[in-house]
Amino acid sequence: MKQNQHKLPNEFVKKVKDALINKESLEGELQERTVDGKERWYQNSVMPILDDDGKEIGEVIVRYDITQKKVFEKLAVTDPLTLLYNRRHFNEILTREINRAKRENSTLSFIILDIDYFKKYNDSNGHKAGDTALINVANALKSALQRGGDFAFRLGGEEFGIIFSREGREKSLEFAESIRKKIEDLKIPHSASEVSKYITISLGLLHVDFSEINVNEDGFYSMADDALYIAKKEGRNRVVIHENDDLELF
Ligand code: GH3
Ligand code: MG
Ligand code: MG
Repeated sequence: MKQNQHKLPNEFVKKVKDALINKESLEGELQERTVDGKERWYQNSVMPILDDDGKEIGEVIVRYDITQKKVFEKLAVTDPLTLLYNRRHFNEILTREINRAKRENSTLSFIILDIDYFKKYNDSNGHKAGDTALINVANALKSALQRGGDFAFRLGGEEFGIIFSREGREKSLEFAESIRKKIEDLKIPHSASEVSKYITISLGLLHVDFSEINVNEDGFYSMADDALYIAKKEGRNRVVIHENDDLELF
């Protein structure tokens, strides 16, 4: 049947061959494109059948279609309005990235950002326009991500998070500032805002060098949030970095 013909990636075919040569089993998930162009996911298991002397006399190949499972997995980590990663996935990625940075004695940065005067925006433009603005801000954040280790999340309401890694405090500040500017440059009119003609954001930034200090998940969140609070208090539409001298131990 046409729809069951799949083009297996060469790399996978080689792995299967190697496994069988070494008389090993192999398991893996693979995304494949059917000949009629549809993306599907398969769980593949390949097991050699050995005779009593350990000689390979055949193999068993089992393939499950796990496309539906993959769709559910994606939904579970996605915010339905903005299609950014959700809060739940944020918790998972933050833990993973902290552990990686600790292991590598490297750095990790985190931004909490919040749209300025967004209640007023809803009040003057309506909830639907508010939703559209959230989607536009989310898309701009997504397009600001430059590296595999950069992640954007909707943390809730009009609050977003960015986990990223840049060498040093200055580079992290530059990145945060570029995001602040990118949102203002969207030029989404916000006549009720007290700081700009357009929608703006305030950002709280934390940059941690794990070769100097250890900070856990709660520390990341609360210190970036403290910086955001100051950014709001000092006038909004700005980046405030949590100063390293003030880093509290968590
Ligand atoms: P600040 O500059 O201090 O952040 O003021 P603010 O008005 O942005 O903050 P506040 O917390 O008072 O209001 C947040 C608003 O965000 C209120 C709520 O209606 C709106 N909001 C939260 N989630 C959504 C959403 O999913 N859609 C829309 N349209 N609005 C939302
Ligand atoms: Mg706000
Ligand atoms: Mg808020």
